[in-house]
Amino acid sequence: MPDYNRGAAAYWWAVVTLGLSALGWAISQLASREPQVLVQVALGAGIAMLAGVFPVRISHSKHSFAAGEVFIFLLLLIHGTAAAVIAAAGEAAVGSCRTSRRWTSRIASPAMAALAMTVAAHTFDAVNQQMVANDVAGAGSLLMAAMGFAIIYFVVNTLLVTAVPRLKRGEGLKAADLFGLFGWVGIAYAGSATLAVLMYLTYLQSGIGVLAAMLPLLASMLAALHYFFRQQEVAENARAATAEATARERELAERHVRELEASERRFHSAFTHASIGMALTRADGVILQANPALRELLGREGDELIHRRFQDLVRDDDRAALDAQLARVHAPDFDDFALELRCRHAHGAAVWVSLHGSLFSEPGSGAPSLILQVQDISARRKAEQGLQHIAFHDALTGLPNRRRFHEHLAEAVERARVTADGPGEAFAVMFIDFDRFKLINDSLGHDAGDQFLVLVARRIQHVMREGDIVARLGGDEFAILARPLQHERHAVQLAERVMETMRKPFHVAGQELMTSASIGITFSALGYDSPEQVLRDADIAMYKAKGAGKARYALYDASLHIEVAQRLHLEGELRHAIERNELSVVYQPLFDIDGGLDPRLTGFEALVRWNHPEHGWISPGAFLPIAEEAGLMLRLTDFVLHCACRQLREWQSADPAWAGLGVSVNVSGHDIAHGAFTARVTRAIVEAGLKPQALCLELTENILASRLEAALPLLDELRRLGVRLAIDDFGTGYSSLSHLATLPIDTLKIDQSFVARLGGGSNEDAVVRSIVLLGSSLGKQVVAEGIETLTQLGCLRAMGCRTGQGFLLGRPMPAAGVSSLLEQHRLASGVLGSRERAEADHLLTLH
Ligand code: C2E
Ligand code: CA
Ligand code: CA
Repeated sequence: MPDYNRGAAAYWWAVVTLGLSALGWAISQLASREPQVLVQVALGAGIAMLAGVFPVRISHSKHSFAAGEVFIFLLLLIHGTAAAVIAAAGEAAVGSCRTSRRWTSRIASPAMAALAMTVAAHTFDAVNQQMVANDVAGAGSLLMAAMGFAIIYFVVNTLLVTAVPRLKRGEGLKAADLFGLFGWVGIAYAGSATLAVLMYLTYLQSGIGVLAAMLPLLASMLAALHYFFRQQEVAENARAATAEATARERELAERHVRELEASERRFHSAFTHASIGMALTRADGVILQANPALRELLGREGDELIHRRFQDLVRDDDRAALDAQLARVHAPDFDDFALELRCRHAHGAAVWVSLHGSLFSEPGSGAPSLILQVQDISARRKAEQGLQHIAFHDALTGLPNRRRFHEHLAEAVERARVTADGPGEAFAVMFIDFDRFKLINDSLGHDAGDQFLVLVARRIQHVMREGDIVARLGGDEFAILARPLQHERHAVQLAERVMETMRKPFHVAGQELMTSASIGITFSALGYDSPEQVLRDADIAMYKAKGAGKARYALYDASLHIEVAQRLHLEGELRHAIERNELSVVYQPLFDIDGGLDPRLTGFEALVRWNHPEHGWISPGAFLPIAEEAGLMLRLTDFVLHCACRQLREWQSADPAWAGLGVSVNVSGHDIAHGAFTARVTRAIVEAGLKPQALCLELTENILASRLEAALPLLDELRRLGVRLAIDDFGTGYSSLSHLATLPIDTLKIDQSFVARLGGGSNEDAVVRSIVLLGSSLGKQVVAEGIETLTQLGCLRAMGCRTGQGFLLGRPMPAAGVSSLLEQHRLASGVLGSRERAEADHLLTLH
């Protein structure tokens, strides 16, 4: 008994003990009776128990009433207390087996019934004896006594049964328990008692057979009762269910109304207080209602928006997209739409909004409406545009970058296609590369390089035509997309304007810089399929321009492809040429041409040569530009420097007569820009054991002009080292003569182009004469190079030029050739033959 407390358990034991004792007593009582009686008792108890299996449930109560009571009472009247006790216990056993699964109940119920029956039946016996003694016995008093007995039995039994749960809960007994139950059950007990008395009286008069006849009657009566209560219960249940359903429905309806009202209130306040713009429109976009946020977003007052079409508030470019969505509203699959578009603010500005439209059917109206949600996304759009700008523009110059240019170009290629409608829109693309930009960057630093690029970008933009696009592709590479192009001439004119604007000096980092542009041009007329092809060809044309001597433009033609391929191939080979010992140095002698008829050998100019395994000797003009592009110049200069120094030292020490010879080495702009140049030169001299004065470094005028200021400290350094310095190709570059006096320069080498045209009394004569004069007045040596004829030699002598170099006097030759020349000279046979000597004499007298 898990849920029994001590009180309940004690009670249970007490009741069960008493009940079983009563049962035991009843059995012992019956044991002495004749078998006929026992059969009747067993039959009566059996019927009672059988009836207990089919109880009559009483409506409105949890209780049921078993018709078995009639037979129990009948047994009491016929066979006395013991029989009734056994039958009551049996019926209770059946009943509790039916209603409870607990063994405590199944034991306690029959015990309680036995107990209650013992008490009630003894009371009934006592009352009967009293009635007999007082001579009031009769049918009426028996009936009264039986009803009294039934009530006692009911009360005692009920008290015994209800005590268990009460004790479990620790509560006392309550009279309400009794009265609450009494109603139907009490009446049923009383009725049973009455019936039993009537049957008993009939049995006394007519014997046991009558009882057997009454049994079916009783059974059918009980069945009718049972049926009646069932019907009643069903009807009652149905009534209760209907009432409950109605109440539930009413409650639901009320709640629905309440929710609708709340939702409407919520919608209304959401609509008015929403921070995003909202509008209720008809399917055709006409605004029925607009919230304050929308009015503010579009800068409108009061009812200004009502009855206007939302489309009319959208910018023209975006309207088509909105119209397309609104046209779908009546389609069966339409749900909602979302768009990003620009609205027109009352002040005219465009406002970027994200628009969401969804269907909304107003109760009672057949036509669909729309709810538009309008959110200001200007800030996001602005940020996106900023990012877009960064992604597609060069941060330094603000010009479109390679990606952007590529996009524009792709579009131009597309538009240039010839279609059925006629020829496409022509364009030209130019690749611009700045000669010497790398040098500027290396010598003046990246900041100066950046400044330079910004200035360059501005100048290019300045000369462009409307619609042209200039982009910085990276480094010093710029590109122009010229479109639309009426005539190819216009692109060439544009290229010329770009070159022209580049000729003016740039002021960067407090210095004046000179540059020039090499431009490659290609035209859409060549029929391009992709931007890549266009860029490739413009690039090739640009290399052609550079190769042709820089500061010029070149137009693309198909043969350039082969050239480029060859150039690239050569570049690869050149990288290995130094390691493979394919480079060598030749020496061209320099003479003192002033001293009478026999020019005196004063030194050599070292000139590099490439002995290519397949192509044979390649001249520097062909491979130096490639070496420059490939970044090989420093190694090349070092190679020539070391060779020349070592070789000169060898010749010097061969004979004291040659101890005064010198050697000139050509230096590139890359060497000047290279920080450690002085150290490299020092190493070459020291390793060869040469006097610094014996080495002359030749820098072209162009190299100096583009970076004069930057080069000055280096020139001073070299000067302090004792090395001599010469300006090569003098007269062709941009050196401002004003600088010349202050430059730490020993020698001016007149460019061969002037020498070549000497003797015609032309302008060149005057140029050479002034250079010679300038040199002598500044105390600088003047060297004429490229002397090929005696006339030239005569002119130069006459002008007072003291040093010369040229094919007439001596061609560049390998070191071995020089050795034999030296030998020849030592034998004093001179350079010029007897015929030339006579000619020279003649010329000399002429000037
Ligand atoms: P450059 O420094 O002006 O060298 C003189 C060029 O004129 C040499 O051409 C030489 O062979 C050529 N020449 C000499 N006398 C005459 C003549 O009477 N008539 C004609 N028509 N030409 C004559 P080369 O050797 O082909 O060199 C061309 C240029 O390549 C050189 O011009 C120089 O700027 C450069 N170069 C040569 N070797 C080197 C080198 O080792 N390093 C550097 N950085 N540049 C070099
Ligand atoms: Ca030279
Ligand atoms: Ca030269």
